[in-house]
Amino acid sequence: MNYQSTRGGDMVSAATAIVKGLAPNGGLYVPEYFPKKIGFDALSNRTYQERAKIILSAFLSDFSDAEIDTCVSRAYKAEKFSSDKIAPLRKLNDSLHILELFHGPTCAFKDMALQILPHFLTTAMKKNGIREEVTILVATSGDTGKAALEGFKDVPGTRILVFFPRDGVSRMQRLQMVTQEGENVGVCAVDGNFDDAQNGVKSIFTDDAYNAFLKENGIVLSSANSINWGRLVPQIVYYMSSWATMVDNGDISPNEEINIVVPTGNFGNILAAYYAGKLGVPIGKLICASNANDVLCDFIRTGVYNRNRSFKTTISPSMDILISSNLERFLYDITGKDTDKIKDYMQRLSTEGQYSVDHETLSKMQEILWAGSCDDAITTKTIQKTFDKYGYVADPHTAVALYVYEEYVKETGDDRKTILASTASPYKFGKSVLNAIGCNDIDDDFAVLDAIQEKSGMPIPASLSALQTKNERFSDACAPSAMRDMIQSLLAL
Ligand SMILES: *Cc1c(COP(=O)(O)O)cnc(C)c1O
Repeated sequence: MNYQSTRGGDMVSAATAIVKGLAPNGGLYVPEYFPKKIGFDALSNRTYQERAKIILSAFLSDFSDAEIDTCVSRAYKAEKFSSDKIAPLRKLNDSLHILELFHGPTCAFKDMALQILPHFLTTAMKKNGIREEVTILVATSGDTGKAALEGFKDVPGTRILVFFPRDGVSRMQRLQMVTQEGENVGVCAVDGNFDDAQNGVKSIFTDDAYNAFLKENGIVLSSANSINWGRLVPQIVYYMSSWATMVDNGDISPNEEINIVVPTGNFGNILAAYYAGKLGVPIGKLICASNANDVLCDFIRTGVYNRNRSFKTTISPSMDILISSNLERFLYDITGKDTDKIKDYMQRLSTEGQYSVDHETLSKMQEILWAGSCDDAITTKTIQKTFDKYGYVADPHTAVALYVYEEYVKETGDDRKTILASTASPYKFGKSVLNAIGCNDIDDDFAVLDAIQEKSGMPIPASLSALQTKNERFSDACAPSAMRDMIQSLLAL
């Protein structure tokens, strides 16, 4: 199976789509057709890893079974995930099942993809005859950087350098990064905010002379960002797997429709749920939950995508996004691969900051999706209510989804069984969580963890409590204009 850009152009192999990340014309790679449906029988009573192999092989047809096997067994290992189910389901009540995607090494759902991407990437490079060492360059506002560091840590043939804004990450996030272990990792603070760090990295990627210099030294740069097909495809696995588990457990029958609720930022996670539907999961409604940055919610309700609004900093920061890149893949699919339409929408988004879809596309979208949003006050209240009612502690991202789901049920009366994606451990956003469940006078980060554990009885993730005694390995900081020098020093060139 080959891959093509959402903006038209030549077909490429899965390996090339993964190596390139973004298509040369600015579009995103999508499969030329969807594999035939994978029924319940193929997935029934299998482990997460076995299900992953079946689903990934269906998409990555130029990878051999042995290659897929190696990638899966290196990524989804017992010592990296705190649950042997990898992505366990937790039944809150008869209809609502929480899909916990935060049992990986960094306690957030990005691990589900970033644990396997490095293995896809090194396999793909070998297939394409690329002999240079790949250096992953990341500018991060928090979660992605740490998840990428853990994913690429000590993967042969790779190095990873992460730049974080000195003024733009929490103390805990900083500590997670500067204590990072591994022989092939580098971490550096950048003077400034996230945009300064991001612009610095972008200018390096597009600096031909600098890239030629690196190549002479046996190094090619790559990114690990969320538009890479290699990050999207592993996300399809947990939706199919959790559906199969629910059927195995007798919670639903194999043909019974279910709803899926996803706290959404870049639209990657919810797109994976949509693709799971194309592969055989009988989906009723996909429910898209936004925080106060409600661009997507407005778009799904009105058909107008308008990013000309103020950016809001919230307690669910991984959803603070005004441009949801993966939406392009969804629009491509529901417009019947209309590349001209997609080019027009994306052109208008970049020049005018907005576009509106035609009536047919809007109604198609609304058949599939329902959307809602909430602000920080409601998010906090939802964490508290959920804890009081079920004794379950939700992180702020998950709480946004819980609230929007409640609104959906109120408005529609739809009582189909529902999977709700929980994208982070409550301990990762401990202060906001503790604040919500009744205690706001603790300042020390580790005391916050202890207090949540005491109240909830849920164990503190080992990777977070271990930070207290780890050495800070990286203390470098640089100006955005000095990032090239820093790369050379970190790579010892
Ligand atoms: C990245 C992230 C999201 C948003 O996922 P998208 O795929 O960007 O929609 C939600 N919650 C958490 C905790 C995240 O890290």
